[in-house]
Amino acid sequence: MTTVVNPATEEVIAELESAGVEETDAAVARAKAAFPAWRKVAPADRARLLRRLATLVEEQHEELARLESRNVGKPISGARGEVGMVAQVFHYYAGAVDKHLGETIPVAGGVDLTFREPLGVVGLIVPWNFPLNIASWKLGPALACGDTVVLKPAELTPLTAVRLAELALEAGIPEGVLNVLVGKGSVVGQRLIEHPDVAKIGFTGSTEVGRQVMRGAAGTIKRVTLELGGKSANVVFADADLERAAAAAPYAVFDNAGQDCCARSRILVEASAYDRFAELLVEATRGVRVGDPEDEATEMGPLISAAHRETVASFVEAEPLFRGDAPDGRGFWYPCTLVEARPGDRIARDEVFGPVAALIPFVDEEEAIRIANDSDYGLSGSIWTENGARALRVARAIDTGVLSINSNSSVRVSTPFGGFKQSGFGRELGMHALAGYSEIKNVFYSTEG
Ligand code: NAP
Ligand code: MG
Repeated sequence: MTTVVNPATEEVIAELESAGVEETDAAVARAKAAFPAWRKVAPADRARLLRRLATLVEEQHEELARLESRNVGKPISGARGEVGMVAQVFHYYAGAVDKHLGETIPVAGGVDLTFREPLGVVGLIVPWNFPLNIASWKLGPALACGDTVVLKPAELTPLTAVRLAELALEAGIPEGVLNVLVGKGSVVGQRLIEHPDVAKIGFTGSTEVGRQVMRGAAGTIKRVTLELGGKSANVVFADADLERAAAAAPYAVFDNAGQDCCARSRILVEASAYDRFAELLVEATRGVRVGDPEDEATEMGPLISAAHRETVASFVEAEPLFRGDAPDGRGFWYPCTLVEARPGDRIARDEVFGPVAALIPFVDEEEAIRIANDSDYGLSGSIWTENGARALRVARAIDTGVLSINSNSSVRVSTPFGGFKQSGFGRELGMHALAGYSEIKNVFYSTEG
């Protein structure tokens, strides 16, 4: 049994049957059986089905947002935004189906053509922090390319994925094309990784499990895309609009209670502005509204579980610069916490995945880049400066997949998202994601004889 808990109240909100190896094999068999017909669906028809799914998500927007909010403990306002993005993602990939083009290449003696072929059955394994959102980033391109899918949501947060599978059938997507399995990563996930009939694993989660995915995929040379952990830098130069940077910085790490792979949890500040910025940041952090996720004004809810709260707490070894308030009593609450650190400290190196930010001073641009790059990760980040040339120079020099200048922005439907280094490889969202769910076939047609 999979027991689903509301992290804000600790109440059990659902109990679901857990799939085992047998159910996983059956789901893969269903997806395999559905593939030949699905790949042949005319592009305009596949687009229409995806668009209908997007419309159903829009119609069920509030229900899905409430379900996600209760299951993850995330504020309802944030959950609404995420479900809105899910619908946009399906609309986007509905539009992409007939724009994912091949080429004709000039060669001697004939005509050379490339085709984008679907992969077959893809296994999608996703985490608990943005359950439906991250699932949609993979489902959109997979279904658009003509793949069939077995999706395994995190055991802690399966509810919206189960609902989405119902909506897919309602939209007219044929049975077997989108299968959702509720179960343990070590059982269902592991079986998907090793299954000979699964062509690709699209994985989002920890770097540690990402390594297991790569190892397990080696046996059948599966395609793999990995969106893993992060320890992103928020680089604040003295010439930045400090008020604006400080007002935004808390939300770059405390959104989703810090359970965000893109969290800018290392705040690097130019030494000459450090004291002033720290003062502004403390004030802004004091203003983050922590509490009941169902309250419209709430900006930060609890952590996902008691076990995760213990892990987060273990990172705060010294007296913090600031610790906010959090509700007492039931729920896995943890306050917004700011810690002063040096680049080598554990808090400055390891992903906390909770509402804890490390403030680190730097003396000049060169040192800022060095500290920002002194990380095993490279997912996201921000640069705050009013000097445009510097902004672009530093953006080019930081080894990370996604950067924003004078903004917290990380993901948009139409732009590529993914990591450098141990934050993984492959790109999600935008047209780039289609490359991860299709294979290029090259056909030479002789014009001789
Ligand atoms: P996780 O422990 O790696 O789990 C992710 C998924 O993998 C879950 O569905 C999990 O299932 C499954 N899994 C666990 N062990 C497995 C195994 N041996 N074989 C196959 N699947 C297995 O990550 P998490 O704790 O859910 O999420 C937090 C991590 O995700 C953080 O490191 C965060 O940075 C990363 N993340 C990255 C991105 C990104 O886009 N780069 C986005 C969000 C999160 P169970 O739940 O059943 O264990
Ligand atoms: Mg985990």
